[in-house]
Amino acid sequence: MEVRLFWTRMAPRMPGVARWALALALLVCCSPAVAGELLDLTHTLDNTTLYWNEKDSFTLTRVEQPANRPFWSQKFKIETVEHAGTHMDAPSHFYEQGWTIADIPVERLIANAAVIDISERSAANPDAMVTPEDLDAWRDAHGQFKYPTIVLIRTGYAAYWPDRNRYFGLSDAEPGVYHFPGFGEAAGQDLAEDPAVVGVGIDTASLDQGVSRTLPVHAVLSRANRFGMENVGDLSQVPASGARIYALPMKTGGGSGGPCRVVIELEPSTCRGKGRGQKGRGRGQKGRGRGQGGRRGQGRDQGQESGRRQGQDQGQEGRRQRQGRRQGRRRQQEQHAHEELPVPGFE
Ligand SMILES: [Zn+2]
Repeated sequence: MEVRLFWTRMAPRMPGVARWALALALLVCCSPAVAGELLDLTHTLDNTTLYWNEKDSFTLTRVEQPANRPFWSQKFKIETVEHAGTHMDAPSHFYEQGWTIADIPVERLIANAAVIDISERSAANPDAMVTPEDLDAWRDAHGQFKYPTIVLIRTGYAAYWPDRNRYFGLSDAEPGVYHFPGFGEAAGQDLAEDPAVVGVGIDTASLDQGVSRTLPVHAVLSRANRFGMENVGDLSQVPASGARIYALPMKTGGGSGGPCRVVIELEPSTCRGKGRGQKGRGRGQKGRGRGQGGRRGQGRDQGQESGRRQGQDQGQEGRRQRQGRRQGRRRQQEQHAHEELPVPGFE
């Protein structure tokens, strides 16, 4: 309506060429067909799908043949454990009172996508982990996470799918031991305490590192009613901020998780889903500059000295801001404790 009003008011006052340019601009901005490029970050479920337990598999059985009918029709039965391929872990997977997959409010499934790239570290070390410093570096560059945000980790392991040995980091030296990157426990705790974060995702087989025996990240996120997505597809084309994610799992009553279609919308239209897309990336505006002043002052003693001081001041300022943000988040969480984390059907 707003767009139509704008058009009827503005168009008659404009010369012909400008009117056509305005019409084209409005069309480009508001047509859902060109709202933003879509990326499918979902591995196809089939008989190549990797499962945590090697004994599990995906089977598709034909139960209806196209025969002896006036029309053509076919039907299959699918058999799989819930946690198959690109999938979502519901909080009830690791916390009895947590939301089941059908309980997760739908407004948490379409969210801002925040991507943290640890692929360089992961290439050098299969046991690499996401730390609170990685989360703070994202916040320094892009500002606080905004509700609802799904934090996605790019390790680069999507490229190994579906090669079981490479994807799970298996070797003859340690039979049955997995080595692939994941969230560290402290990062999981940080995200569980951030009221803007509704869930997380990673392009490996587990939120926890492959070597983990106790899976603390699953536990801490589930207790906070945050969902997790595993075996997410290639995140290399998704910007650190500004994209929107659609994470839509199969809605099984009472389910602990399920196969999930994960779609990224690059540069979401501002004409649709108002307030969801993040605007203004603000890269490098906050709490940065550790040592940057020093680099700028190179070549002159005086410049170096003042640059160092500036860098130090900015570094301290950055730390202060981070501390303030943590306190702010804690306060926010206390305020929203009741509205944000209700568990349907439980006291
Ligand atoms: Zn799972």
